[in-house]
Amino acid sequence: MEAQEKTILEKHGEIAKAGFEALQHKVIEQKACCYCGSCIAICPKQCISLGEDTPQLSGDCNKCGICYLACPRTFLPVTPIQQWLFNTKDIPPLGNHIRAECAGSTSEEILAEAPDGGVVTTLFTYLLESGAMDAVITTGKQHPDGYCYHPKPRIVTDPKSLLECMDKKYDPNPLLTVLGEAADFEKVAFAGLACHVQALRKLQYAAHAYRELFPALAGAADKLTRTIKLVVGIGDIGRFGRGKIDTLLQEYGASGEAEVARHVEERITADFVFTLHSGKEIRIPQYAVIKYPQPFCFLCNDFNGYASDLTVDRSEFQQFNTVMLRNTKAAEIFDACLAENRLQTRELPDEGRDFLEGMVSMLEGFTDYDLYGYEHYLKNGEFKIDDSMQQMFGNQENRRLRGLPENMLMELLKKYPQYGFCINKRRELGYENPEQF
Ligand SMILES: Cc1cc2nc3c(=O)[nH]c(=O)nc-3n(C[C@H](O)[C@H](O)[C@H](O)COP(=O)(O)OP(=O)(O)OC[C@H]3O[C@@H](n4cnc5c(N)ncnc54)[C@H](O)[C@@H]3O)c2cc1C
Ligand code: SF4
Ligand code: SF4
Ligand code: SF4
Repeated sequence: MEAQEKTILEKHGEIAKAGFEALQHKVIEQKACCYCGSCIAICPKQCISLGEDTPQLSGDCNKCGICYLACPRTFLPVTPIQQWLFNTKDIPPLGNHIRAECAGSTSEEILAEAPDGGVVTTLFTYLLESGAMDAVITTGKQHPDGYCYHPKPRIVTDPKSLLECMDKKYDPNPLLTVLGEAADFEKVAFAGLACHVQALRKLQYAAHAYRELFPALAGAADKLTRTIKLVVGIGDIGRFGRGKIDTLLQEYGASGEAEVARHVEERITADFVFTLHSGKEIRIPQYAVIKYPQPFCFLCNDFNGYASDLTVDRSEFQQFNTVMLRNTKAAEIFDACLAENRLQTRELPDEGRDFLEGMVSMLEGFTDYDLYGYEHYLKNGEFKIDDSMQQMFGNQENRRLRGLPENMLMELLKKYPQYGFCINKRRELGYENPEQF
C-alpha cells in the first residue's frame, strides 16, 4: 500500500470512530448516498435498515465504524482497485478491456423481454445451466405483473426466473443488501450498475488490502464477498429521481406505472415509449425525461463499471448490446455462449472517433456549465434544466456518433458537465465530497 493511501485511510479511520453518526453526517446529510445497500449488508449488529431515501439506524450502534469504512461514498480507492484488477493505474475510455463486441441473444424468449440485446440474461442463463455458477445476484421487480420501475434485489438459482428480472428498473436499488444471503452459495455472479460495482469491489479490495489497518472491516467484507466470482457492470449515464416515472406518465396523460403494459427506449431519438394496457402509446421525448435526474448520480463519474469483469451497455442497434470484455475469464464465458449459439455478434461501429477526440478538450472545459441546474438543486432542492440542454437532447436526429464513440460521448458527458460541475459546485457551497484516489 502506498504512503498516500495509508494517510487517507488513517484519516477515515479516525472519522469512522463515530460509528453510524459518521455515515449520517459525512454521507447521508451531504446528499451523497447512492442507496447501494452496502452498509446494511455489512453492519455486524444488523442495526441499519432501509429508509425511504437513505439507510437509517434502527438498533444500537456499537461504533465499530465498519459501515462508514465500507461505504463507497466516503472514500473510494479507484486507482488501487484498477491496479489490483488490471495491473495498471490508468482507466482508458470505457475502462480497461481486452475486447469490445456488439452482441445480442439468439433466444426469442429473452429478446421478447430484453431492454436491448438480452446479453446479461443470456450470460446468466448459461452460467446457471452449465453449473459454472450456483446463483446470480440480479434485480427483479417489486410488482411482478406488468411494467414496474421499482427494483427488488434478488438471488436467482433457476434460469427461468431470470426472465422475471429483465427490463430497467429506474428507482434507486439497494442491491448489495442481498450479499449476506448470497454468501451461502459457492459460486455467485453479480450484475449491477456502476455504483453497485464500485461498492462491491471496494468490499472485495478491503477484504485483502485492509487486513492490517481495518481487520474488522476486512473480515466482514471477506465473508460477504468471497463467493462472488463474476461481476457484470451495466452502463448507465444517470437515473431518475425516486418516483419520477409516475410523475412523467401523469404529465403525459396516464395515471402511472399500473397503466403501462410495455416500455421501450428508442434508439437514435432515445424517446421513452410507453404502451398502455388500453393499446394507447405515450411517447415522452428525451428532453422531457432528463428534467427529473437522480441527485446522487451527479457524484458518479463511472459510466460502465470500470472495475467489472465485463460491462454491458446498449448499442445503436435494437436487440443488440455493446459488450466490453475486461479480462480472459469474461471473454471465455462470452465465447462459450457464442460457441453454443446462445449469443450472436455483428460489426461494432467505430467511426466518428476523430470527431469525438475533437470534442474531448471542449468537454473538459465544460465543468463550469450547469446543464441540469444542479446549483439550483443544492440551494432549493429542485433541478432547473438549462434550455440549451433541452435543445441538445431534442435534436437527436442529427446525432452521428455510433457504436463505441457514442458510448464514449456519454462517458464524457457524465464525467465533465455532470460530475465535474457537481464536485466543484459542492466544494464552493461547503458540501463534503466523497474522496476518490
Ligand atoms: C437503470 C438503468 C439505466 C441504464 N442507462 C443506460 C445508459 O444511460 N446508457 C447505456 O448505454 N446503457 C444504459 N443502461 C444499460 C442498458 O440499456 C441495458 O439495460 C443493459 O445493456 C443490459 O441490457 P440487456 O438487453 O442485456 O438486458 P437484460 O438481459 O434484461 O439485463 C438487464 C439487467 O439489468 C438489471 N437491472 C435492471 N434494473 C436495474 C437496476 N435498477 N439496478 C441494477 N440492475 C438492474 C436486470 O436485473 C438485468 O440483470 C441502463 C440500464 C439500467 C438498468
Ligand atoms: S456497522 Fe458498526 S458503526 Fe455502523 S451502524 Fe453497525 S454497529 Fe454501528
Ligand atoms: S452509499 Fe451505500 S453504503 Fe453508503 S450510506 Fe448509502 S447505502 Fe450505505
Ligand atoms: S449514474 Fe452512477 S450513481 Fe447513478 S445509478 Fe448509475 S451508476 Fe448508480
